[in-house]
Amino acid sequence: MTDTIFSKIVRREIPADVVYEDTEVLGFRDLNPQAPVHVLFIPKRPIATLDDAIPDDAELLGKLLLAAAAYARAEGFEKDGYRTVINTRDHGGQTVFHIHVHLLAGRQMHWPPG
Ligand code: IMP
Repeated sequence: MTDTIFSKIVRREIPADVVYEDTEVLGFRDLNPQAPVHVLFIPKRPIATLDDAIPDDAELLGKLLLAAAAYARAEGFEKDGYRTVINTRDHGGQTVFHIHVHLLAGRQMHWPPG
């Protein structure tokens, strides 16, 4: 896959407000937040979209979700709840083709999403 801005963030070539990091996952604040808290969790090893994930990626995808949950718990968002979102390709609204989990918190979410 081609390099995206998120790989540049992983390599610290462009700045980001990093709030979570472990060996395989990075979490940083979204530049254009859609809630009081809006953090993106990405695997350091890029996968373009959820559709590009293969069975060998299962552990990494699990770690991505668990990283988001661990961050949410550490920040106390689990009490009121929060939303996690993965957008996939055009109709999903994906704009950066390096898989990421949006974590949105700090306000009441609505359903269905737009
Ligand atoms: P998508 O639309 O699901 O692909 O989400 C991409 C997200 O990345 C959007 O919410 C953008 O606001 C966010 N974004 C794009 N570039 C940057 C950046 O350089 N830093 C942080 N967030 C970014």
